[in-house]
Amino acid sequence: MRGAGIGPLKGQLGMLATRFRAHHPLKACSDCMAQDQAVGGTPHWRLVHQLPSTWICPRHHQMLLRSTVKATGVGRFLWHLPDLKSMVPVSERPPEAAHPIWRQLVTCGEQVLALPNGFHFDDVRLASTYRSAAAEQGLISSIGRLCTATFGEALATAVAPLRAIPELSALPSCPEEAIAQFARLLRPPRTGTHPLRHFAMVIALFGTWESFWAAYCADSKIAVPHHIRGSSAPDLANMASAKVDARRAELLNRIDAGMSVTAAAAFVGIATGTAMAWAAQAAVRVDRRPKLLKPDVRKQVIRALRRGVDKAVIAESCGISIQTVTNTLRTEIGLADAWRGARFTQAMRRARADWAAIAARNPHATYTDIRRMAPATFAWLYRNDRAWLEVQAKKQPPAPRSNHSRVDWDARDRDYAGQVARACLLIAAKTAPKRVTIGALCQAVPDLKPLLSKLDRMPLTGAALKQATRRRRTDEGHQLVMTNSP
Ligand SMILES: [Zn+2]
Repeated sequence: MRGAGIGPLKGQLGMLATRFRAHHPLKACSDCMAQDQAVGGTPHWRLVHQLPSTWICPRHHQMLLRSTVKATGVGRFLWHLPDLKSMVPVSERPPEAAHPIWRQLVTCGEQVLALPNGFHFDDVRLASTYRSAAAEQGLISSIGRLCTATFGEALATAVAPLRAIPELSALPSCPEEAIAQFARLLRPPRTGTHPLRHFAMVIALFGTWESFWAAYCADSKIAVPHHIRGSSAPDLANMASAKVDARRAELLNRIDAGMSVTAAAAFVGIATGTAMAWAAQAAVRVDRRPKLLKPDVRKQVIRALRRGVDKAVIAESCGISIQTVTNTLRTEIGLADAWRGARFTQAMRRARADWAAIAARNPHATYTDIRRMAPATFAWLYRNDRAWLEVQAKKQPPAPRSNHSRVDWDARDRDYAGQVARACLLIAAKTAPKRVTIGALCQAVPDLKPLLSKLDRMPLTGAALKQATRRRRTDEGHQLVMTNSP
């Protein structure tokens, strides 16, 4: 979205007419934050917490906290992470998190977010789904007339708990307002409505997103394959739109009936490559034209892919294009999963080995020190291998406490100052460089690197480093300097 100012954008999005605010405070859960910290990470924002429909943490079932940072405008353009100091309750009188409506609202937002790219609700079908549910609840008479009073009453009662959150206070406070806001959703609308209002309607009429979605799919004029229609929420989230599924089913039927892939693809109006991929996903074997790739080369490519070899490397070694490798990957049943799995295992081995090597080289380094030394490795492990990382965290020495460590630091300082001086002599004797560098000293003295940022607490080591790196300039008499150093 782009525009000269915020105002026109809000208008174009229909935000002004909806009466919902658009300031979207950043939200976080105190338990999630504590958990992030416990595994050595930094608290971070979670996407699902930021949805306008999310007000409880779906994992910890407690009300979220709201950040004051954006609201006050101070530092609003800076990067900012969740911090308890700037978090306040979402409302002056926070509502009861245990009320099921908060969880239902979270689910609505999550499920809409999970719909495939390009998915659109069909206005006519949506209105008709709402009408059927209203009729079932006796809110529409047998001759099809809306019983306005009952409808207003039902809707206002259903959404009442939500109004405790200031951001949701645009929802109706009385039956009259409920009629004004919601009756029009029962007809195909001329203008859009805020998703929050649709969510309120879904909860009021169906109770849960799942039963709404089942009703919406059942209302379809396009056949939705049976396995998708009756499935549970996570499967629904991953499903492609009903239209794609209908084409997929049609394609597979045609191939089953003996039509060639190319002809079946043309029949349903998709590319042959896509048809081959769909067939592979559905474990339907299709005849492929041998002229594309000689069988022995193809076998070689498949073997390499199963081992998780990089596509470009395979293309290079087999003398074929990357596109051909990708096509093989897409069209051999189960191969794409095997390749991804092998790639993941490789990446995991690399990251673990990397972490373990750094930990071995720096036995005194704390978990945080290692994280700082290898941020990319840490990020990968944190996202993909958290359990292993947590085990490693326990292996490293605990972070030093700042208040009772006077003695530790002094001893440490003396120890490192001596090590630096000795390393300096060795380096100079071995290679006779013009100058001994900090880098060379860090390689020679284990654990020195993470301590460089703490030299204010290690004055002797600091002095030894200065001495060592300066030493070559005053070449004569350096032996004397070194014997005098601590
Ligand atoms: Zn949480």
